[in-house]
Amino acid sequence: MIDTHCHLLYDGIHERLERVLAEARTAGVSGFVTIATTTSDAVRGAALAGAHHDVWCTSGIHPLHAADPISWEDMHRAAQHPKCVAWGELGLDNHYADPPAALQTSVLEEQLTRIAAWRNEGLIKPIVIHCRRAVPQLLPILRASGLPADRFVFHCFTETADDARAVLDFGAWISFTGVVTFRSAPEVAAAAKLVPDDRIMCETDAPFLSPEPVRGARPCVPAYVMHTGLFLAALRGTSFDAFERTVDANARRFFSLPESVGRAAITDSASRLA
Ligand SMILES: [Zn+2]
Repeated sequence: MIDTHCHLLYDGIHERLERVLAEARTAGVSGFVTIATTTSDAVRGAALAGAHHDVWCTSGIHPLHAADPISWEDMHRAAQHPKCVAWGELGLDNHYADPPAALQTSVLEEQLTRIAAWRNEGLIKPIVIHCRRAVPQLLPILRASGLPADRFVFHCFTETADDARAVLDFGAWISFTGVVTFRSAPEVAAAAKLVPDDRIMCETDAPFLSPEPVRGARPCVPAYVMHTGLFLAALRGTSFDAFERTVDANARRFFSLPESVGRAAITDSASRLA
């Protein structure tokens, strides 16, 4: 399974990166998308992806890093790396009061404006959205950007089933972390049942949010994406094998990853029987 969202440069992972990647590969993880949260992180992420055949990267500014130094030139340059597969993560986080909502919003809007302009110049990528208690504020901003709705994924979805419906009606994708496995988050599991097969993805958000049954483990590592995948498959009444093929095909389609990464899609009943 492809871990579509992890932070390989964060403390707890980067200082023992080769071991973390090797253990994940042994567990069945075939690809990693390491997500930027600042523009300097984006530059380092591109270098890391360039050095590992199965790591891809993104470029963007997390809302909780809206007050950090920003280099638009670095954001643009990191995005031109051949292994940079998306913008992000960017969005709004109403769980924390700092940075203030006004600053989060202005950094989000400036990113979307620049992304739209770069898109017009031919630099076309999907967008990874961070959204915490902010669906009603975020959807109008994304709509106003004029960027195609089906090129957004709401990652680490922790909102309600009603919010999931609003995101799906907008036309975006939804991705789940270990939070969906928590007994304390039944609303997230309810949301995960709603998402159609062609708009769901799976991720760890490592080093955060270890899933059940390893919830106490620190840090969370990409190998644990298998636990979240098993949980989601059971929740959605499908086999792990079929679910893994579905989410890997989705990840390849959303991020334009090579056909060789992840499990092959089930193309016809004959190949399923073979
Ligand atoms: Zn993240």
